[in-house]
Amino acid sequence: MSVTDASGAPGSSSSQQGADGGAPPWRPYLRADDRGNGANAVEVALNEVRGKIYPRSVSGVFARWRVVFVLLTQLVFYGLPWLQWEGRQAVLFDLGARKFYLFGLVLWPQDVVYLAVLLVISALALFLFTAVAGRLFCGYACPQTVYTEIFMWIERKVEGDRLARIRLDESPWTARKLRLKLTKHALWILVAWWTGSTFIGYFAPIRGLGHDLLTLQLGPWQWFWMLFYGFATWGNAGFMRESVCKYMCPYARFQSVMVDPDTFVVTYDKGRGEPRGGRSRKLDYKSAGMGDCVDCSLCVQVCPTGIDIRNGLQYLCIGCGACIDACDQVMDKMKYPQGLIRYASQRAVEQGWSPRQARARLLRPRVLVYAAIITALAVAFVAALALRNPLRVDVIRDRGVLAREAPGGIIENVYRIQLINTSESSLVLQLQASGLPGLDVHVERQAAQAIELEPYANKLVPVVIRAPAQAAAPGAHPIMVRASGRDRAGNTVQRDENASFYMPE
Ligand code: SF4
Ligand code: SF4
Repeated sequence: MSVTDASGAPGSSSSQQGADGGAPPWRPYLRADDRGNGANAVEVALNEVRGKIYPRSVSGVFARWRVVFVLLTQLVFYGLPWLQWEGRQAVLFDLGARKFYLFGLVLWPQDVVYLAVLLVISALALFLFTAVAGRLFCGYACPQTVYTEIFMWIERKVEGDRLARIRLDESPWTARKLRLKLTKHALWILVAWWTGSTFIGYFAPIRGLGHDLLTLQLGPWQWFWMLFYGFATWGNAGFMRESVCKYMCPYARFQSVMVDPDTFVVTYDKGRGEPRGGRSRKLDYKSAGMGDCVDCSLCVQVCPTGIDIRNGLQYLCIGCGACIDACDQVMDKMKYPQGLIRYASQRAVEQGWSPRQARARLLRPRVLVYAAIITALAVAFVAALALRNPLRVDVIRDRGVLAREAPGGIIENVYRIQLINTSESSLVLQLQASGLPGLDVHVERQAAQAIELEPYANKLVPVVIRAPAQAAAPGAHPIMVRASGRDRAGNTVQRDENASFYMPE
């Protein structure tokens, strides 16, 4: 089967093959004309100047799911920075202090491995969902989809549905057109600005941002990111829309290697729908040799990326299910069974399998391998976090003084010891050293040898480690520095760190 490459140019491309070598489900971008005439579908080169798409609103099961996901994702995004935890912002990426606060967890630069593991788990979860049900993330949770939904909702409320918007755009400029366009953009800018402000609220305490904004006391980087993120939201969701998926999103490019013929994707049942054509509801269309598709083009009109799913699965399909809702409504009106367009695997449609037979193929080896790796990583991640030592110790030698002699035949080495408390509880610590006979640790510039460390704080402590001159031969000797103590609840904390002690000639 000949397919096209990702640029939409005709030809064969192995990158478009299903991963198991089965028939490739991906097609080039075959676009109906912008008024939804699927019969005029043409193959479109990637670099073709796009026409504006006017998606029609649709209701149905998948439209409701999209609304649910818009609300859920925005509740999380807009609400999370306002949550408090132990008197501070629950989620805060404080780049200046180099601390990431995630509820009870505080990650330091040394903990970057935890973030890396989280990213790996997220990437694998994306692979898993894509292998099971195609571009679920794109259709329901991708920020581009979600903000486009919000902006299109505002557009519909202000300018009307598809035909009203087309007429408005084609009409000459009048006071009414100006008022509608200004209202739409004012609302878009309000959402974009709120989004940009929320974004920087993840990096600076959000509760002071309103005051800093009104008094023009935001820092230059805060201004930059608020305006940049707000502008990107306005531009991407208001104007770029499907072009972001088409030209900018890398996921759209490599998704074809993550699906196979058993992946559930939005599929037009060609065997049932063709030959398509308009007909009267009373016509015995089966006797007339017609399929179930009445060629109403509604599935194209509701598509946010302007494609005709009847031409096969195309990489521009974000799996939103809008065409399923539209087609099911048409099937209801015609009193035909629903599901001419449906979530189904390519193999199930070709073999005429029942949904149950198709679902039985969900737990195939690639899905099980992804699930097993994710489970193993998640267990390791949770265990590592639970067993994480809240105390970090770093021993830094004083470069200026290698060793010095003190009265009484004592040799002194000077260090700075960095202590980091990553817990919510303050710590009281003592320092000890071992590895040579008679080692003694003295904390400088304070009378008491106990060191107090506030929650989530770090401290650089100057110390002198002493040893009798006869304790070892001249040269460097490995020693171990131990910081130990208790937290407020009385739990013991302890951390050992290797260092070296230098004995002069
Ligand atoms: S909505 Fe259904 S019936 Fe109408 S053109 Fe699309 S596939 Fe055919
Ligand atoms: S073809 Fe259907 S599922 Fe794909 S993007 Fe268009 S409306 Fe959404």
